[in-house]
Amino acid sequence: MDRYDRQVKFEGFGKDGQQNLRNSNIMVMGAGALGTQVSELLTRMGAGKLIAVDKDIIEMTNLHRQTLYTEEDVKLMKPKVDALKEKLQQINSEVEIITLNTELAPHNILKILKEHKPDMVIDSMDHFEIRFLINEACHKLNIPWVYGAAVGSKGSVYAIDSSGPCLKCLMDTMPATGESCEINGVLPPAITQTAGIEVSEAIRFLSGKGFSKKLNTIDTFGMNYKTMNIDALKDHDCLVCGQHKYEHLEKDTFRPVQSNCGRVYTLRFDDDIFHKEISGEIIKQNKFVKFITYNGYDMTLFKDGRMNVHGLDGQDEAERLYREIDGKLSVKLTF
Ligand SMILES: [Zn+2]
Repeated sequence: MDRYDRQVKFEGFGKDGQQNLRNSNIMVMGAGALGTQVSELLTRMGAGKLIAVDKDIIEMTNLHRQTLYTEEDVKLMKPKVDALKEKLQQINSEVEIITLNTELAPHNILKILKEHKPDMVIDSMDHFEIRFLINEACHKLNIPWVYGAAVGSKGSVYAIDSSGPCLKCLMDTMPATGESCEINGVLPPAITQTAGIEVSEAIRFLSGKGFSKKLNTIDTFGMNYKTMNIDALKDHDCLVCGQHKYEHLEKDTFRPVQSNCGRVYTLRFDDDIFHKEISGEIIKQNKFVKFITYNGYDMTLFKDGRMNVHGLDGQDEAERLYREIDGKLSVKLTF
């Protein structure tokens, strides 16, 4: 019997839905909590090609919500996309899995989308600003995408194509704080519910039923599930879908020093920094990442030249440290 028999028997999906899924090329942006669960479902269901994009390695604090990853992956400091591919291929070897171990930013998102030409993008990112970037990139290239976010006990999903309101129509201003930050915490079932709704929207679309055009919200602790019809919220003057102005994409400046959650900053150097001799103390390392202490700072250096530095007291201190390290690099000294 066909491995997909049970889902093909569901009338709304059927053989056509299965065939369309088999022919699909879906990019999942983020291989964290939502990304692992979305990718697992789509792999089990028999997607044709999945492209997983993520910049991080697996940490112990990920395991409570990022399904598929294991303590062994943490020990080996594996990039998420590599571990994800390994597990997904064990689940379904018929699915082609492409991995991109990179960050998504204004300087590369269009290039990545143009190169891989996904039929659909599924948002599985963990901070808010990136979603406005995805919104602009997908609108510009006319790619349908599914917005999904989960924080605390709540989750929301909204699937977007060119016919309805875009994300910008719904949320005209960027939230000043909050949803991006790790400190808010999240309950794993909120993620499972959110990921499930994202995949439901994706397979509705692939089955020819189209997106639901609803904003779906769940509260896994308050035991609420609501949908809201938001077609009427299309803003005809919207900067993105009304006027085709892409202010997030146009921030196409490479940001060498960027603030993250809490006191963590990302410093970006040329990727050859990874192979230079380091005078700080290397705590542990593999071919993807080095954990370093340097002048009292805890640093994580990735092979693409990104360095996350913990314990910085502000932009000025981060920029000073960047100049210090960059200066030593440019005169070919070690640090
Ligand atoms: Zn819009």
